[in-house]
Amino acid sequence: MNALLSALRVAVGDGHVLTEGDLSAYELDWRKRYRGRALAVVRPASTIEVAAVVKACAAHGASLVPQGGNTGLVGGGVPDGSGTQVVLNLGRMTRIRAVDPANLTMTVEAGCILQTLQQAADDAGLMFPLSLAAEGSCTIGGNLATNAGGTQVLRYGNARELCLGLEVVTAQGEVWDGLSGLRKDNTGYDLRDLYIGSEGTLGVITAATLKLTPRPGARVTAMAACADVAAAVRLLELARARLDAGLSGFELMSRFSLELVGRHFPQLPQPLPQAPWCVLLELSSAGEEAGRAALEALLGEALEQGLIDDAAVAQSLAQSRNLWHLRESIPLAQSEEGLNIKHDIALPVSAIPAFVEATDAALERAVPGARLVNFGHVGDGNLHYNVQAPEGIDSAAFLAAHESAINALVYAEVRRHGGSISAEHGVGALKRDILPLYKSPVALSLMRTIKTALDPLATMNPGRLI
Ligand code: FAD
Repeated sequence: MNALLSALRVAVGDGHVLTEGDLSAYELDWRKRYRGRALAVVRPASTIEVAAVVKACAAHGASLVPQGGNTGLVGGGVPDGSGTQVVLNLGRMTRIRAVDPANLTMTVEAGCILQTLQQAADDAGLMFPLSLAAEGSCTIGGNLATNAGGTQVLRYGNARELCLGLEVVTAQGEVWDGLSGLRKDNTGYDLRDLYIGSEGTLGVITAATLKLTPRPGARVTAMAACADVAAAVRLLELARARLDAGLSGFELMSRFSLELVGRHFPQLPQPLPQAPWCVLLELSSAGEEAGRAALEALLGEALEQGLIDDAAVAQSLAQSRNLWHLRESIPLAQSEEGLNIKHDIALPVSAIPAFVEATDAALERAVPGARLVNFGHVGDGNLHYNVQAPEGIDSAAFLAAHESAINALVYAEVRRHGGSISAEHGVGALKRDILPLYKSPVALSLMRTIKTALDPLATMNPGRLI
């Protein structure tokens, strides 16, 4: 191992190979569920240095774990407990290499923080629409490696749809320069799509060419109260019909999710405190007044049809920010409340009401009193269906006693309703062992073939995803 450490120091410089002191920022995941031990944390500053690190690891038979902002929620970006893995943290690779307004693209390094990229696009009078609550600390490399979704998928798509080209260091330490800004390029297998969503198991993403879009003139936000999930889904249908592509956000939040926000962030005002379910709608439009009028007309119609009981339209940017803040505070409020059993699932939108009804009932029979933190990007069919311990029961004891049974119950309903067990967070360590239960043998065999072909020595993030 000393020979490997020496090679790593040669590759990136002594000061950027960390082996001592408090490494918990790199070894402990965001949810504090996975605590590993790294042989070293290596922080390269360039693609060439990344390539040298990968070559050194491969030559010494060591494996490495690519890491961006370490905000992933499935334990894929931290080392295992062996003390033999190298954490390759991309945090020093933060250059914006080019912005091309005419081509609506931006080429950036993998360690750029998402929020910095949103700002850079804005500075160019454009928009990079990927948006999620971790945007102040997650990196674009991590976003692409997990094919992150977030709150704007309904209109702009997942990270995959927002990426035109990649630069990747392969598991052999070679550099693949695929930084194309082309919207059409049918010249064979799509290598970019192979690396996007591969969770660091095939290669290291070192840079990307991202798609920018014109900035909408205004974004208008409202919150509506629904009696149940079926009403919320019918509201979505109506909103799509009336607002068309202008509908850029549609988030569902249960009363209990918002109660947790109220408990842990009491300073945030809640406009509809009695609503059993709240929907956050966002309309992107050319002008603010026209947008607000369109949103108000939609909500008036929804009220007449009995789809909603009440609504509040934000009258200022500050009010709009507050509504988003409520939604974005749910993950943090949950973690303040204690660990819960998370299910990041995707369903056909039309199946969501039946899924929620059946699964809520089955859970109440199995674990009476369990509290459900239901919220999510329902506009694109993504639900965060999380199960919290009954009031007064210790979270850790609850997880130890019920996690496997509750997962089996929830995922059986997901399958029955035509859904996926991972919508946007990925598989990582959390769902690796159960993936074979929900993926066809043919799909798994093809995935293994790809993994073995691209990473025969299992250098890249072994034990994750597959
Ligand atoms: P990390 O956590 O560091 O890594 C994640 C995975 O990607 C790991 O497997 C790692 O090995 C791999 N990886 C990282 N960088 C690279 C690279 N350069 N090359 C190859 N592999 C790499 N996700 C959503 O999709 N939508 C949401 O709405 C959302 N909301 C969130 C809210 C909160 C509060 C938090 C904490 C997380 C949320 N997430 C959400 C999870 C999401 O996956 C991450 O925030 C983000 O996409 C990961 O980026 P990161 O830089 O932190 O990656």
